[in-house]
Amino acid sequence: MNYENIGFKCGLEVHVRLDTGRKLFCSCPPKLSKTEPSGSFFRKLRAVAGETGTKDVAAVFEYLKNKKYTYLFFEKESCLVEADEEPIHEIDRKSVEAALKVATLLNCDIPDEIHVMRKTVIDGSATSGFQRTALVGLNGYIETSTGKVGITSVCLEEESAGIVSKTDTETVFRLDRLGIPLIEISTAPEIKNPDHAEEVARKLYDIVRATGMAQRGIGVVRQDVNLSISGSARVEIKGVQELDLLKKVIENEVQRILAEKPQAPETRYAKPDGTTEFMRPLPGSERMYPETDIPPLRPWKVEKPETIEERIKKLERTIPRQLAEQVVKSGKFELFDKLAKYHDPTVLAEVLTSHLRELSRRGLEPESEKLVAVLERTSGFPRKCVKNAVELVAKGFSVDKAVSMSKPVTGKELEKIIREAMNRGAKNVFAEVMKNTGGLADPEEVKKIISRISAASS
Ligand SMILES: [Zn+2]
Repeated sequence: MNYENIGFKCGLEVHVRLDTGRKLFCSCPPKLSKTEPSGSFFRKLRAVAGETGTKDVAAVFEYLKNKKYTYLFFEKESCLVEADEEPIHEIDRKSVEAALKVATLLNCDIPDEIHVMRKTVIDGSATSGFQRTALVGLNGYIETSTGKVGITSVCLEEESAGIVSKTDTETVFRLDRLGIPLIEISTAPEIKNPDHAEEVARKLYDIVRATGMAQRGIGVVRQDVNLSISGSARVEIKGVQELDLLKKVIENEVQRILAEKPQAPETRYAKPDGTTEFMRPLPGSERMYPETDIPPLRPWKVEKPETIEERIKKLERTIPRQLAEQVVKSGKFELFDKLAKYHDPTVLAEVLTSHLRELSRRGLEPESEKLVAVLERTSGFPRKCVKNAVELVAKGFSVDKAVSMSKPVTGKELEKIIREAMNRGAKNVFAEVMKNTGGLADPEEVKKIISRISAASS
């Protein structure tokens, strides 16, 4: 397909959730709960006339449905702010810092003042009836393989409540997701084809990751696509959940538009199979009001973070490329930097990537403070000892206990074990010693002692 010939016009909105330790306007943790909801309440929202006194087409569309909205709340991950029963708290400055870094990396102009605005939301996904958003950068660009693509805006926003179920009369939302900080990057309609869209989306995600504050995992990145081709109305596709799906969704949508030639602009949502479904008519211009609970903020000067590629290049000096990529892409580069002086770089990289992944698959996740402490205090320990200590703190042992239970077997103690194995006439002394010490001996030291004893006795 020649996308230029059909007048393909496409822009992206990429959303990435942040993890700075708290939500944007309260101190709840920015994560989805793993426990059952601790209660629920319901509301009925009605569309209100906009500032101009007119209800636009999208508002009326939702209004006619006049639904009941039920909200599930969670003891740890939601509070009175999410329930809209208490005014918002101070804005999370770390999230503002991350947004400023993204804007800087995207060559944006940064406004003199950052104003938090309210954007009307009528689908029930915000208990307050609006989503708070702040413009942090504009008029930037990103370099791609086929030239520059304009960045129209970088915003810091609140994540909406997550949908649990939806019927014609009732939508059930969960409040743990509401208020998680979100970076929203909008591009100009300068994307040339579906492959280019994927390239741009990946680059934008990498830019947010370069702040060290991007969340990882499923559902933390979401793309909206604005699309039109010659002779058809504009279509907005919401919520492409995976980067891998983006290209397929755009290809499918172009085929659909070519076959149906839609005349009225509309919003559609992306289904997991890569097709789209009608959601509502396209809303008119966004209705925004200033958030009176938060004073305007003066942006501060931020240091331009190193890009993902720059960080990988740096790590490649001490560890293999593939391992360097894993460290950087798992968001562990800062931790790696901080702990590099304590360990052999390859051992440290393995612990921070594959070992933590393996523990996580078994449902074990060390608290970050304990992880740092245990890695500082196992400096110079053999690989197995370090991994052992990390596993023990993940299992809930104190740092002291984990370290003392993972002490390497070394020196006189090790020599004694080796001599015993030799005196027993063990076939493979090395293997037996490693086994008898539970892997807590340094293999190099074992080899050295064996050859020293052998040399002395021959
Ligand atoms: Zn809260």
